[in-house]
Amino acid sequence: MLGPFYNEKTAVATLAKCKDAKLWKKFVPTRDAKKKFSMAFYLHTTEGFLAKYLTMPPQDQMYCEVIPDNVPLKIYMDVEFKRNVAPNVDMDECVALVQQCVATLLKMPNLVPFQLDASNGEKASRHLTWPVALKDKEAVKSLVKHVVYVLKEQGAPTTGDSICGIDLAVYGKNNQGMRMCYSHKPNEILRKLMPYPNKAVNARMAMEQSMIAHFVASLPMLEWNRPLEKKQKKAPAAPGTTKRVKETRDAADLPLDLVLLNQVKDRLHNCYPDVYFAEEKMYDEKIMSLTLRPGVICPAAQRVHESNCTWMNVNIKTRMGEFVCSDPDCKVGGRLVRWGCWKF
Ligand SMILES: [Zn+2]
Repeated sequence: MLGPFYNEKTAVATLAKCKDAKLWKKFVPTRDAKKKFSMAFYLHTTEGFLAKYLTMPPQDQMYCEVIPDNVPLKIYMDVEFKRNVAPNVDMDECVALVQQCVATLLKMPNLVPFQLDASNGEKASRHLTWPVALKDKEAVKSLVKHVVYVLKEQGAPTTGDSICGIDLAVYGKNNQGMRMCYSHKPNEILRKLMPYPNKAVNARMAMEQSMIAHFVASLPMLEWNRPLEKKQKKAPAAPGTTKRVKETRDAADLPLDLVLLNQVKDRLHNCYPDVYFAEEKMYDEKIMSLTLRPGVICPAAQRVHESNCTWMNVNIKTRMGEFVCSDPDCKVGGRLVRWGCWKF
């Protein structure tokens, strides 16, 4: 095993020179009070790493699988929500809806994801991997965005700012780490990701089924190239109605100024090409709020939040916009952190 590398660039540059090695990440404690932990990188082959990982003492199993760009991946989702945000939402129900939606979209009625669970009293958390592959992360992201769109139209439960707890941020950045089966975060040793519903499945089998970028070669490779944005605009009328789905949705949020909304989106897109707009809403009849995923760098935390999002709030009367961080840990004097001053 090569590493640890504490610098991602060095790790990736070394990886480029290694035959057969893969990148792995590990949580390491940090002294920075604002950040809970940082990451160290390691290089190892899949088989060698797995043999080592499965025999590690449980307290050392803090590893993540690194999800590379431009390689085939299993379809995967991170489904999580805080119970106090969505007290009436049931995780099993969310997973059942997601499972049904994916099976319908892919026309594979018996397709079932393998589940890992790390729920506790505060947070419901599930990682899902399906035993089929798409060509790369972009294709998986496109499918999952489509799932979110369909579930929203179906009236599936909302969990804070997401639908059925689906976290779209996990498809956002390069070298994203997804925790591996049995692993935990440094400050949450008891909150391990365990196979669900049966914890006692064979460990090797659980690893093979839950890892996203590994053990993909033997799985069916599916096509998914349905761009979400176009699909939304061209969505046909639902049976028995004359309105298009998109128009029905906008009608519910009527005061949205669509011209202004498009200006805001264009400008954000020019500055942050990787950011997409998870939701748009009106507040107080004057604040147009766009939820940005995976978000932009928050000046309070000096990073992009992984779990919490950033909003762009535009006052439609003054046409002034500002960024707002939704992370409660960034609050100053009970107020959410705000920055930027964009005139539209
Ligand atoms: Zn923040």
